Formats: sequence, structure tokens, C-alpha cells
Amino acid sequence: MPGYELWSDKERKEVNDVLETGILMRYGFDGPRKGIWKSKELETAICETFGCQYAQLTSSGTSALTTAMSALGIGYGDEVITPSFTFVASFEAVLSVGAIPVLVDIDDTLTLSPEAVLKAITPKTKAVMPVHMCGSMADMDALITICKEHNLILLEDACQSIGGSYKGKSLGTIGDAGTFSFDFVKTMTCAEGGVVMTNREDVYIKSDGYTDHGHDHKGADRGADLHPFIGYNYRISELHAAVGLAQIKRLTEFLSLQKKNHGLLKDMLAKIPEISFRRVPDPAGDSCSFISWFLPTAELTKAVVAEMKAQGILPGNFYWFDNNWHYIRKWDHLKNSITLNALHPEVKAQVMQQANKDFAASDAVMSRCISTSISLLWTEEQIQEKGEKMVNAVRKVLAEQSVSL
Ligand SMILES: *Cc1c(COP(=O)(O)O)cnc(C)c1O
Repeated sequence: MPGYELWSDKERKEVNDVLETGILMRYGFDGPRKGIWKSKELETAICETFGCQYAQLTSSGTSALTTAMSALGIGYGDEVITPSFTFVASFEAVLSVGAIPVLVDIDDTLTLSPEAVLKAITPKTKAVMPVHMCGSMADMDALITICKEHNLILLEDACQSIGGSYKGKSLGTIGDAGTFSFDFVKTMTCAEGGVVMTNREDVYIKSDGYTDHGHDHKGADRGADLHPFIGYNYRISELHAAVGLAQIKRLTEFLSLQKKNHGLLKDMLAKIPEISFRRVPDPAGDSCSFISWFLPTAELTKAVVAEMKAQGILPGNFYWFDNNWHYIRKWDHLKNSITLNALHPEVKAQVMQQANKDFAASDAVMSRCISTSISLLWTEEQIQEKGEKMVNAVRKVLAEQSVSL
């Protein structure tokens, strides 16, 4: 999954270019920077690599989501439909612009269930935000149709699916806007960083200003810039962008390793008839950062997790159902709407109401799901050994459970 595994001289060289001039900021200092513009170069490379018209780098994937929402005009009074299975950053960003996260069920794609989205639409719904979890995609055709019919914004949280695609288009470039995270554990990293991608000029211009205190970036003199609206500082630094620039040039290499390792391990797991796999709406577009697999029941899944733990082979396997960060079940801070700054009482009540709904349909999927993250460093022998151990652990549990029936 993560680009940090293959840290190399290429990253060191790009960072060193910046260290040589000492100009660590992405804007201004035109003379002393001696033609080194890592952030601009990375934005151009993102547009070329993923096929979008505009890219605005940010300090993180979370700030990219916040920026995209602001640029799309999402705020007070608006509801944003988003899945019950995602990283906490997705709802954090919705809250940061004053809107209400309307969490809805996922299906066997591990992403937004289009039927659940339809049921959740109200006159206040402003946007649908699918999250392409664990390297693979939401059913985009269904979501695009819903958004068109109901005149809703489509914002893709593609933070976990860099390099994935849907019917030939890169994930994150299909909706009104999309975001990647370049944090340390993502498919390519800047250490910390993110990007807003869009084909809408208005969204790009607003994102550009918003991430830099509202600067309009029209003149050569930063100090003389006007501020047509209030912004924040969500800038990336040149040092971070330099790391990303080296990584994006290696992305094809990362993805091909990921696909190869994913294929080898998946073939081994597929030999067990009781195991099924996540539904992938466009299998050719899976970035293959994880294999997400199901057992027939929650009990069997819990027993397999326990067995893998006992055998010391659990690391790298995620049982999201019991995980604190990625699934609604453990988001007590959201369910109780615990914030450090007071929310408007109406917003607070709605946040709590949404987070405390019934998610039985999601539970039925997530309680049977294990995701195995794919390392870029594995040798074929290691994959063989890992696969055999996993298969044996599953077979052992299946045998024990059928005996006990
Ligand atoms: C990582 C991630 C983010 C946030 O990215 P950061 O760069 O860590 O702020 C947002 N959404 C999802 C689904 C993520 O996995």
C-alpha cells in the first residue's frame, strides 16, 4: 500500500533541491528560489497523471476535503451524505464547514449503497460524498445518476484509492471535485499533504485562494494580493511537495507491484470456497492496495481474527468492525457530538441524530469483512508463506466450527 516502503535516492534528490536554495515555501521568493517550484511541478504532474484539469495541493487530505467543500459552497444548512465506513477525516471535514454529515449504509462494495443514498435525500441535501475505501471504488454510475436527478454535488473522497479508476477515469476526477491524501501511509506520500482535483475552473480558483488565507494570487507581489473571501492556511510546503514529486514519478512502479502481490495472495485465499470478496464495480480499476474478503458469518470472522492473532499473523489484517477509526460503531465522539468548540445547538442535535441511526445493513457487511493490506516489499516466497498461514488459520477455524455445529 504505502509509498514510504520504497524510500529512495529519488526522494532525497528532490528534497535536496529545496534544501540547496532554502526556499521552503511554495509562494514568492522568485529570485532566491532559482527556478525551483516543487509544488507547482507536482500539481502539473497530478493533472497529467490522473487526467484532471486542475489540482490544488494542500497540507493534508483532511484539509483538501475541507477546501473542496468550501469551494463547492457547502456549509450551514446543508447535509452531506457520506458512508458509515470511512476514515474519521471524512466527517471531520463536513463538520469543519458547518454542514451535517448524514452517514448512510454501505453495501458489499464497502462503499456508499446507492439505495441508502436515495433514501437519505432531503430538501437540505447538498452533496453526496462517496469514499473509495481500501483502494477500490464506489458504484459511480449509480451515484452520478442520483446526483444528476436530484441536482446534488458529487465530491469524491479518493484519499485511499490513488491510482484506482472507474471505466477509464481516475478515481477523484469523476465528480465535481475529488481529493487524495498524501499522508505517510497512503499509496504515494508527501509525509503530509493532500490535493483537490477538479475540472471546474471556479472550484479550482476558490481552492487556490482558500488554502492561502484568501489570497487572489493575481499579482507578482504577494503583499499586494487582494482577498475576495476569507480563507485559511492549508498550504503544503516545498519540502513535502518535493517528496511527492519523486513519488508520483514512481507511481506506476508502486501500482504494478501492488497489483502483482495482490493477485498472488488473492489467488491463495480464493481456494477456500467459504471466502468471498468485496464487489468491485470496475475490477480493472482496483488499485489493489488491500484485499477485502468475507467469511459467511460474523462469528466465523471473529474466530478467524482471533486465530490469526493467536498465531501472530494478524498485523496487516484489519477487522474494521472492531476498529476505532474507520467504522461508525466506535465513533462515540461523533455519536455524542463532543467538540472542543461549541456547536450551534441545532447543528449539534442533528449531528447526534444522524450518527445514532441504525446501521444494521452496514454491520452485516463489516462484521464479516477482513482487509489485508498489500506490501510493496513482499517477495514471492513471503507471499506464499503468508498466504499459507492465512489459509491454514481459516481452514482450522472452519473445521472447528463445523465440528461444533
Ligand atoms: C487518510 C484519509 C483522509 C485524510 O487524509 P490526511 O492526509 O491523513 O488528513 C481522508 N479520508 C480518507 C478515506 C482517508 O483514508
